[in-house]
Amino acid sequence: MCPELCKRLTDVLGERVRFSFSLARHTSFRIGGPADVFAEPNTLEELQSLLALLHEEAVPVFLLGGGTNVLVSDKGVRGVVVKLGGGFTYVRWEESLEEATVYVGAANSLGRFVREAARKGYRGVEFAEGIPGTVGGGLLMNAGAFGGELSAVVVAITGIHRDGRRERLPGQTLGFAYRRTALPEKFAVTEVEFRLTRGHAEEIATVMNKAQHKRHMTQPHGYPNAGSIFKNPPGTSAGRLIEAAGFKGQTQGRAQVSEQHANFIINTGGASATDVRLLMDQIQRTVWEKNNIWLEPEVRLIGDW
Ligand SMILES: Cc1cc2nc3c(=O)[nH]c(=O)nc-3n(C[C@H](O)[C@H](O)[C@H](O)COP(=O)(O)OP(=O)(O)OC[C@H]3O[C@@H](n4cnc5c(N)ncnc54)[C@H](O)[C@@H]3O)c2cc1C
Repeated sequence: MCPELCKRLTDVLGERVRFSFSLARHTSFRIGGPADVFAEPNTLEELQSLLALLHEEAVPVFLLGGGTNVLVSDKGVRGVVVKLGGGFTYVRWEESLEEATVYVGAANSLGRFVREAARKGYRGVEFAEGIPGTVGGGLLMNAGAFGGELSAVVVAITGIHRDGRRERLPGQTLGFAYRRTALPEKFAVTEVEFRLTRGHAEEIATVMNKAQHKRHMTQPHGYPNAGSIFKNPPGTSAGRLIEAAGFKGQTQGRAQVSEQHANFIINTGGASATDVRLLMDQIQRTVWEKNNIWLEPEVRLIGDW
């Protein structure tokens, strides 16, 4: 790929492009090998130029948000990992009597947005209290909890196509499903537009406190992880199936199926992506043999395996 392309990338982004860059500290699992190139554009123009250049050179691109729903391979990622910079962290409110339209930058923390909405007394995203990561990643995953999903309050998104074209896509065209959004291939989300309704600040705070309490009681803390490893199959819970298959506490290298919640794998210190992947494979095979159900990963497996 380099040196000619590397020089052109440096011309576009200066010091915000890094080579052979470890991704481990950019993931909540604290696991992952190096990206060939790690790029942090700060403005729409930089992102457009970057994507157009990579498209022209046919270089693979991967968009990374907060890294809280990914398992990056130990061998790392070939091509360019793009993480939106500080210029994409903003929240802009347009308020009327009963509701608000909110424009949120894709790199903005989802949690910070949720708490800002609560402080202002708006309903719609309180279910997401405690979901880590960015608004862009949340949109891609159609993040949800306790019966709510982001898709219910998304009006539209704006982003950049691989060739550098900018487009606003209405929510109805995004093919939302359980932990899934059907975006055009390699579309980089730069902004999400939400519609929230006015509510009572105390009621909203109660919902959020309950959500935090439930998470605290049922999920592991203190060890790096990526949230639920598998999606819930229709009509049942992945955690229950994994627990019934006897996996709670099971280890592979330095990875362990959480004692608190069987659908979480934790990094007990120095786990490799291979450790996690092997544990996932064993779980899938065993649950299939016992229940005839194939668990589909919720966590996205990234890079060379
Ligand atoms: C402790 C813990 C608890 C969790 N609880 C929940 C929960 O209750 N509910 C839930 O739904 N999830 C949960 N998660 C999973 C995760 O936090 C969410 O899926 C989150 O929304 C992912 O956001 P992210 O920014 O970290 O995305 P990443 O993990 O960085 O990326 C996820 C996907 O989004 C894509 N992506 C990210 N940003 C962009 C962008 N700007 N444009 C295009 N594509 C992009 C990536 O390519 C990738 O495919 C939990 C995770 C942890 C660690």
